[in-house]
Amino acid sequence: MEEYNDDKRLSSLEFTKRISRLLLVCLNGVSELKAGDQGLSDKLKELSNLLVEVLGEKIESPPVLGAELEQVFDELVVQKYLIDKERETAKQVFIAFTKTIYELSRSSGEFDEILTEQIDVIEAAENMSDILSAKDVVLGQTKKIQTETHAMREELEESKKTTSDLTQLLEQVETKAMIDPLTQVFNRGTYNIEIGKMIKKFKRYKDPAALIIIDIDHFKKFNDDYGHKAGDAVLTLVASVIKDAVRDTDMVFRYGGEEFVVLLNKLDIKNALKVAEKVREAIESHHLKNKSTMLKVTASIGLSCFKEGDVETTIFERADKALYQGKQNGRNRVEQVL
Ligand code: GH3
Ligand code: MG
Ligand code: MG
Repeated sequence: MEEYNDDKRLSSLEFTKRISRLLLVCLNGVSELKAGDQGLSDKLKELSNLLVEVLGEKIESPPVLGAELEQVFDELVVQKYLIDKERETAKQVFIAFTKTIYELSRSSGEFDEILTEQIDVIEAAENMSDILSAKDVVLGQTKKIQTETHAMREELEESKKTTSDLTQLLEQVETKAMIDPLTQVFNRGTYNIEIGKMIKKFKRYKDPAALIIIDIDHFKKFNDDYGHKAGDAVLTLVASVIKDAVRDTDMVFRYGGEEFVVLLNKLDIKNALKVAEKVREAIESHHLKNKSTMLKVTASIGLSCFKEGDVETTIFERADKALYQGKQNGRNRVEQVL
């Protein structure tokens, strides 16, 4: 076959050389792009050496098209570098975020496990889509934590409210247990507690104090003449009159049926007598309206002052003795036993 020698047309050797040079540029480019893959890199190098051998010459400069190809490969390498960098940054940011969520949710074992697992997944991620799928799991957990925290806060609020309701209820029950339901003054049980406190206080501070027993005169007659209901109305009236006549700091008790006791704070005998008299007068001046009649109520009062060595019973017994004298001496009067 005649050899084709036209200058404008390439000889097959020249053509092979040019193609080989181009191939060499490609091989070098791919080798750079896949720099991390040692196996592939070795194979490419082997192929390059083979080509150089085939060409029988060292390639000093790449052909014109080879230079353009080289540029394409250079750009690809830069792009890959940027993508790797971006992925690394995204990884770091996401790991920091996941660790924060993990710290915040430490108390919940379930979240602990899922989040530590995701940190491992992100650390090992090779591409963006792995990171993004880990992101979905972490965000899902964050939402769950949010919901649980919200529910916990609501539960806490609810239990706070229940506690305060119970405290209030307890206070109401306690107060109720201290009060006489008919007359709304303190009951006998409260008296037993308060007289003990008063004795102790007197022993310690020696402040003068007194005790008075108020017993409604001929109370039985109210019940007999006007009925038990009228009797109750008298008791309620007398209790409120006593309360109004003494200071707020003085405690009024319904000791028994129609007997009341008042503990008078910081009063010497002279002033205690004045208060007892004031109470007696106040009861006498208040009449109870029963149908068309006005019922006159009076009471006798026994007074005693706290003195050295007193115990709960001794001070009461002296006041009771004084009350007895009041009844003996004609009722509607104040007597004292020192
Ligand atoms: P004195 O002047 O000597 O104190 O005579 P009194 O009638 O007041 O005393 P007495 O102890 O004889 O009677 C007290 C009465 O009080 C007897 C009891 O039936 C009545 N009583 C006790 N508790 C209540 C009550 O809660 N309501 C009513 N209506 N009466 C009561
Ligand atoms: Mg009595
Ligand atoms: Mg009486």
